[in-house]
Amino acid sequence: MVLRCIKCGRIYPEDEIRYRCDCGGLLEVVIDLDKVDTKIFDGKNITLWKYESWLPVKKRVSLNEGGTPLYRLENLEEELEVRELYAKNEGANPTGSFKDRGMTVGVSKALELGMDKVICASTGNTSASLAAYAAKAGIKAYVLVPSGKIALGKLAQAIIYGAQVVPVNGNFDDALRVVVEASRELGVYMLNSINPFRLEGQKTIAYEIYDQLQRVPDNVVVPVGNAGNISAIWKGFKELYEAGVINELPRMIGIQAEGASPLAKAWKEGREFKPEEKPETVATAIRIGNPANWPKAWNAVKESGGLFESVTDEEILEAQRILASKEGLFVEPASAASLAGLIKLLREGAIDRSESYVLITTGHGLKDPNIVVNNFKLPEPIEPTLEAFRRVME
Ligand SMILES: *Cc1c(COP(=O)(O)O)cnc(C)c1O
Ligand SMILES: [Zn+2]
Repeated sequence: MVLRCIKCGRIYPEDEIRYRCDCGGLLEVVIDLDKVDTKIFDGKNITLWKYESWLPVKKRVSLNEGGTPLYRLENLEEELEVRELYAKNEGANPTGSFKDRGMTVGVSKALELGMDKVICASTGNTSASLAAYAAKAGIKAYVLVPSGKIALGKLAQAIIYGAQVVPVNGNFDDALRVVVEASRELGVYMLNSINPFRLEGQKTIAYEIYDQLQRVPDNVVVPVGNAGNISAIWKGFKELYEAGVINELPRMIGIQAEGASPLAKAWKEGREFKPEEKPETVATAIRIGNPANWPKAWNAVKESGGLFESVTDEEILEAQRILASKEGLFVEPASAASLAGLIKLLREGAIDRSESYVLITTGHGLKDPNIVVNNFKLPEPIEPTLEAFRRVME
């Protein structure tokens, strides 16, 4: 197992602390696919660490992550007239988002490398997750968050798990810049998603989808912020393919919020990727103008024959309401971007109704309760009598 630059191909040893190639390219972990256990995909006892032989760590800091439900969305299949629709509900992870998959592997790696301080920049969920796993590992966590732009539930989590929360005057991209410099200068281990070990944990979403469905879906629809997750899921499917476990691959469909959609814009306008200066969206988890993993995500979408699309905040909030009220699935706004994107693409005839789709619902709805409560006016209270309630029912 080694680290390889996706740009120039240069190889680095796995125990070297580095996040990028000397040429500036992103690194990926190359798994020795001769040594993995290909016989474990039996649909049973699914947890992230079931796939240990496919993961590049020996230590294990775990809170029992993964094994999240794959719901069939029957009501929406009927309403949207699509043949097969699922949601992989990542809100069911220990801290309520898929970030736990990355952190169980990333914090394990930090211990293996002998690091006792970890750091990340975060729109919220990364810091909640890092804080929890650092607590479990007994090491110090610093989390830099855009001041005033982090959802209430996520902030509460980072605080109570005992991380040092550092609000930054700026957006996510500004906070990440500081974190990158701190990891270079101050001896802290960086666990943002340019750390390739985090993506190794997140690739297990692909393993689980295959394990749960016992086949490969035609399409996987993923909300895209910093663009690590869509890259990780694609890597997972490709490894299954290269190891001979599966013989087809899904299309990867990446959905961004319109106010933070540098990848979708470049894709649709057929031009070079260009970062966006002032990202803005209600979906704070994907409020990112300069996705660090964009080259990996671009490859994932291109190689898989997929596409990028963007959706408005209104479409996101509407999709959030639909998932909850039609399927009993309460997700945070960023997660609902996946359904919003599917609805838009179906409406435009850009995708095929007779195919199967797995939506990645990335985080739990309780992360960001204000977004719901602030947009809903409760009626006046009634008198505590049957008569008063009877009038309500009528
Ligand atoms: C982090 C996050 C995303 C974006 O994932 P990227 O890997 O940054 O593209 C989407 N939704 C939620 C809930 C998240 O926490
Ligand atoms: Zn390189």
